[in-house]
Amino acid sequence: MNQTPLGLFGTDALIPDEDRAIRDTVRRFVEEKLKPRLADWYESAQIPARELSRELGSLGLLGMHLEGYGCAGTSATAYGLACMELEAGDSGLRSLVSVQGSLAMYAIWKHGSEEQKQEWLPRMAVGEAIGCFGLTEPDFGSNPAGMRTRARRDGDDWILTGTKMWITNGSVADVAVVWAQTDDRIRGFVVPTDTRGFSAPEIKKKMSLRASVTSELVLDDVRVPATAVLPGAAGLSGPLSCLSEARFGIVFGALGAARDCLETTIEYAGDRQIFDKPLAAYQLTQAKLADMTLELGKGMLLALHLGRLKDAGKLEPAQVSLGKLNNVREAIAIARECRTILAAAGITLEYPVMRHANNLESVLTYEGTSEVHQLVIGQALTGQAAFR
Ligand SMILES: Cc1cc2nc3c(=O)[nH]c(=O)nc-3n(C[C@H](O)[C@H](O)[C@H](O)COP(=O)(O)OP(=O)(O)OC[C@H]3O[C@@H](n4cnc5c(N)ncnc54)[C@H](O)[C@@H]3O)c2cc1C
Repeated sequence: MNQTPLGLFGTDALIPDEDRAIRDTVRRFVEEKLKPRLADWYESAQIPARELSRELGSLGLLGMHLEGYGCAGTSATAYGLACMELEAGDSGLRSLVSVQGSLAMYAIWKHGSEEQKQEWLPRMAVGEAIGCFGLTEPDFGSNPAGMRTRARRDGDDWILTGTKMWITNGSVADVAVVWAQTDDRIRGFVVPTDTRGFSAPEIKKKMSLRASVTSELVLDDVRVPATAVLPGAAGLSGPLSCLSEARFGIVFGALGAARDCLETTIEYAGDRQIFDKPLAAYQLTQAKLADMTLELGKGMLLALHLGRLKDAGKLEPAQVSLGKLNNVREAIAIARECRTILAAAGITLEYPVMRHANNLESVLTYEGTSEVHQLVIGQALTGQAAFR
């Protein structure tokens, strides 16, 4: 029997049994329940987000690495492996789970009041309530410190005004964690999306992450009570702490997309007859497959290493940048190389490779672009901040 790319690396031996069991459950769910529907969701740019989040919640995947409030409390590595399996389906699925668990829920879990946690986390963990995370603005993506969204006091209340852009889950969310500039510092607000003045028009015509809801958030004098502010977050470190969580999931997730491309391609190359033998029997094809396997395996070793550091409470943000930069960059290179092996067939939705490649364009950009992660790593190496 042939080896799978990661089977050849033997990386399963590095994964604790309990984490592997979680991974296998998610893999089965994605294979059986989601993969048959993904191409259609992608083509129609419609996903049944509410139904999906309930299913993901019933599997314990929402906020799974958080403790208490109905969350599963798994290891960080198990969370990463779940992200990998979800993204082997589609980056849009993983985005739904990342934004729910690592951005919206984590913000409340880490920085919220006990009242906010009790109100939102148990419902979010089972997928009854969907969350989104509004940091990026039309004019401020890589530099969120410049944000124009304002929160001003009015008696005990706060009034929020501004526009957020490219917000995953925005139009389907029940609750938005919104970051805004106050007279003092940037603060986070927990905003129920049925609050007067809040709207979330969906962004259409995307060529990437089509099986994911992406929205604008419009805050037109949205009045929230004093209890809406996240008490534990003041300044940009609040949202950045959440981004570090989500980036960690992407370190694994992107490899899921790459693995799916590579496994699909190896099977295709075995079946496809070119001239008088299978495409897999040509040296040029095998060189491509070998090189892609190397990058996938190295990325997996890096992901598992970072997972172990995170589980030991020793993971630094710059180390997450190493993983995000490398693994997304290599994943997109693998997806594109696989497309060359599938040739014309590779451009269709019959095969997942171009869908993954297109999705990975977004993954390369969100949660810090490649350039931003290069700058983070550069700063760690030189002590010089070169962001501006
Ligand atoms: C599908 C999708 C979903 C998203 N979901 C969310 C979400 O849920 N919540 C949220 O808040 N945001 C979300 N985002 C936004 C995402 O985080 C931003 O797009 C990202 O931070 C980049 O911002 P930008 O697109 O404005 O690019 P810009 O910041 O305008 O960057 C443009 C280019 O300049 C480069 N650049 C930036 N700074 C420097 C520098 N100092 N030196 C050299 N080059 C630099 C960038 O790397 C990039 O190549 C999402 C984006 C997408 C595409």
